[in-house]
Amino acid sequence: MTVEEFIQALNEKGIQLTEQQINQFEQYYHLLVEWNNKINLTAITEKPDVYLKHFYDSLMPLWMAPDYFKQNATLCDVGAGAGFPSIPMKIVRPDLDITIVDSLNKRITFLNLLAEELNLTGVKAVHGRAEEVGQDKAHREQFDIVTARAVAALNVLSELCLPLAKKGGYFIALKAQRADEEIVKAKKAIATLGAKFEEQISEMLPIEDSEREILVIRKTLETPKKYPRRPGKPAKQPL
Ligand code: SAM
Repeated sequence: MTVEEFIQALNEKGIQLTEQQINQFEQYYHLLVEWNNKINLTAITEKPDVYLKHFYDSLMPLWMAPDYFKQNATLCDVGAGAGFPSIPMKIVRPDLDITIVDSLNKRITFLNLLAEELNLTGVKAVHGRAEEVGQDKAHREQFDIVTARAVAALNVLSELCLPLAKKGGYFIALKAQRADEEIVKAKKAIATLGAKFEEQISEMLPIEDSEREILVIRKTLETPKKYPRRPGKPAKQPL
């Protein structure tokens, strides 16, 4: 996807990028590739691929599930790596208040530099495992939306993400394949953590024509205090 195709495709989804936003994506691309030579950030580095598989892909929830992204919402992105999906979302929606949690400190360093270079205010990068951050009062049950892309299967991911969502908030998982089986396997975890499965929305990624799914889970009750369990346990013994 060329930059022009990116701008056009977003336009068709009702998003008109300003010059400033177009430049921010351009800068993001350059910083990503530059820093990727020093620290491992992504296997995707060709410009058309970054625009399609990182930038466009990260933005899909904004039109696939628009009602959840309320004005000035607080959003926590678990395992954002080089900033996906939350940084592209922040460029398009500067009103969102973003907190990123990642266990790799080098990526946190990159994200802090990125936010500064792109002049993004309201982006906080927290170094830590979601299992620990989810037990920290400063972050537990604080967010309107919790997102995660390419971090773990839904049963594991629910334990990492749902404790961070407010009661009445949403956990939104971005999946690069049909997730029917994952959803079935995560039913028990979702209920145990005080949430309800809300909806599964599918759309094709253009050009590649591969499936993308957004899974929306609503937090209806407080998560029991013992979750998330200690680091590593959610993956080793999924609920
Ligand atoms: N979300 C990004 C994307 O879609 O490009 C990055 C995906 S990368 C495959 C997974 C990221 O999750 C890594 O940056 C890793 O450090 C982070 N991660 C994995 N488990 C984690 C945990 N328990 N707590 C915090 N971060 C975690």
